Amino acid sequence: MRLVVVGAGIVGSACAYTASSLGAEVTLIDAGWPGQATAAGAGIICPWTSGADDPGGYDFACAAAQAYPSLVAELADLGETDVSYRRSGAIVVADREDELEPVRAGLEAQRAGHPEMGDVQVVTGSAVQRLFPPLRPHMPAVHIPGAARVDGRKFRDALVRAACRKGATIRAGDAALVCRAGRAAGVLADRELIEADAIVAATGAWTTPFVEPAGVVVRVAPQRGQIVHLSLGSTDTREWPVVLPVGSGHYLLAFEDSRVVVGATREPGAGFDHRVTAAGLSQVLMEALTVAPGLGSATYLETRVGFRPEGPRACPLLGPVPGVTGLFVATGLGAEGLTMGPYAGGAAARAALGLDPGLDLAPFDPLRQ
Ligand SMILES: Cc1cc2nc3c(=O)[nH]c(=O)nc-3n(C[C@H](O)[C@H](O)[C@H](O)COP(=O)(O)OP(=O)(O)OC[C@H]3O[C@@H](n4cnc5c(N)ncnc54)[C@H](O)[C@@H]3O)c2cc1C
Repeated sequence: MRLVVVGAGIVGSACAYTASSLGAEVTLIDAGWPGQATAAGAGIICPWTSGADDPGGYDFACAAAQAYPSLVAELADLGETDVSYRRSGAIVVADREDELEPVRAGLEAQRAGHPEMGDVQVVTGSAVQRLFPPLRPHMPAVHIPGAARVDGRKFRDALVRAACRKGATIRAGDAALVCRAGRAAGVLADRELIEADAIVAATGAWTTPFVEPAGVVVRVAPQRGQIVHLSLGSTDTREWPVVLPVGSGHYLLAFEDSRVVVGATREPGAGFDHRVTAAGLSQVLMEALTVAPGLGSATYLETRVGFRPEGPRACPLLGPVPGVTGLFVATGLGAEGLTMGPYAGGAAARAALGLDPGLDLAPFDPLRQ
């Protein structure tokens, strides 16, 4: 079975890894365009606080978060031990304790169905600042021990290396879909036709133009996100939890190398404009320093910009494209794609190989409007 996977973000990398592990002859191709969401994403894995506006998307995200540890263990068995996944926990912080009550109650209500979120507790006083020292003093918090974080770049690279070890071929280049008589026949890259029995479009925010030659419309739009990386010198930030200020789309999280990541803008109207803007940078830093003034003396490292692939609803677009034999889509993961990506890529691989995808794909119709 010859499978071409277009897009080597977290979804395509996971798809290529799963498919090559299952014995397929896989080519993974990526254009390397600026704004890959995986390379910019913060890496928070905490689906229980995201609000269940689409039950299908929520259940999918929870299942994806639950599946992470076994994939991490699988990659470790293949020698990929530096994937940066850590169950760091998360704290939802607020100015007053009463603002946290709905959050605590909401999490508690979900707990029976999702024990992996751990024992949710309210934390007050200096205990909160001990968890994340730059925070403003006296902020109460709800602690979610089961939340995790991952560096999308490291995880993606580990998946690509693992896929290569299983025999996948990696190519750089812009792929154009080639269809013949209602069938996806391959992709054209560098004037060469790469023929395939199946093609997975893991093309993120660029999916709409990619599938156009098949005569179908997959509704995905880019939502720009600007996100700032800071360094705290030699401070040991490894175990710091993710910080989620209540009622805000902004957040803070930390990685091993004394790096604190603060974000992010959500800019649906910016198209594929891959620039750091004055307003974006100012918004992100202002929000972060309001919650964590202790970051004021941190060293500014960089601002990353990525395009979240936004579908019509907060629910993946995943599975075979109706009416086009051999074409599969795996995208639309929006602001939770680092959470859902490996799970979505795995399901897409199994579906494309004609195997049981491991879940009912009916709610994820790629042509959903
Ligand atoms: C600022 C920011 C913060 C985020 N924070 C989080 C978070 O905390 N938690 C979370 O779960 N998610 C987060 N996300 C969302 C997450 O990063 C994305 O949903 C996810 O990475 C999408 O992965 P993808 O593989 O679908 O797309 P991408 O990573 O964008 O990859 C798509 C790839 O396809 C390639 N491509 C497209 N068309 C073609 C073509 N024709 N030929 C060849 N290659 C092509 C592109 O070059 C690109 O590399 C965040 C995103 C951003 C931008």
